[in-house]
Amino acid sequence: MSQPNDQYAVALHGGAGAVAGRDYDSVEKHLRTLTGECQAMLSAGRTSLDVVEYAVREMEQSGMYVAGRGSAANSAGYVELDASIMHGPSREAGAVAALPGFMSPIQIARGVMEKTPHVLLAGAGAKAFARNNAYAEVLNADDYYQLPVGVTEEDLATASAHGTVGAVALDQSGALAAATSTGGTFGKLEGRVGDTPLIGPGTWADDSIAISCTGTGEHIIRAGGAISIACAYKAGAPLDNAINDMLDEVKRLGGDAGIIAVTQELGIATLYNSDGMKRASVSSRQPLEVATFA
Ligand code: ASP
Repeated sequence: MSQPNDQYAVALHGGAGAVAGRDYDSVEKHLRTLTGECQAMLSAGRTSLDVVEYAVREMEQSGMYVAGRGSAANSAGYVELDASIMHGPSREAGAVAALPGFMSPIQIARGVMEKTPHVLLAGAGAKAFARNNAYAEVLNADDYYQLPVGVTEEDLATASAHGTVGAVALDQSGALAAATSTGGTFGKLEGRVGDTPLIGPGTWADDSIAISCTGTGEHIIRAGGAISIACAYKAGAPLDNAINDMLDEVKRLGGDAGIIAVTQELGIATLYNSDGMKRASVSSRQPLEVATFA
């Protein structure tokens, strides 16, 4: 790890499922505020791991995105959540998949990382872990879950409609971290797990790069996802090329996706081949930027 300095970077995404022509002003406002908070945390010396967990937790609990409170029921009529988090320097990682009924899956994913010898807990086992460790549970699903911004009731019947939240950060000690959380694709089958909770395809952080993916999970998994970008980048590919090659492969397979990445060298990329991707970024050398479409 490099010596402490005053350099930092953070990027957030609110999903690559943005639909052209819909209004995401409130989402952009939320992302701007949240990115400013992340910047303040990083400037004050907080760790990238704390920052990505904080950002994803706030997005989960806002109900504005397809994650946490903004998630929709699966084909069996209940919400199942996926989330993962990874710390670059230690390569420690934690994840939950097909987890029913908890407010902040990303907090539980961090709990899996810190309190168990495992990387991924799924379904009933993830629920038992969350209960045993007293994570906040959703007691009344009908009252809690809500339609996220830009999503209509009709979208819920479209299996290709989707959304996710993610965060990547570099802190002043040179540590990279990544976190991703989703309610998955609409109309998904019970037990369906996408790329988001998978360390490698959906989320990745090492000493060089931190990456969070969004998009059609089945295609991202089959295209290799985040880990294929990290390998290409570490083999010498320019950051944007490494990402665009993976995005092209997702497209070739019939899907669409978006990527946020930060590198040890303060590089930031927010690229997508869907209609749009709700996104924001800032670093010690780049002013805060927020956008949804091109
Ligand atoms: N990747 C997520 C999934 O397939 C969805 C998304 O990012 O929009 O579950």
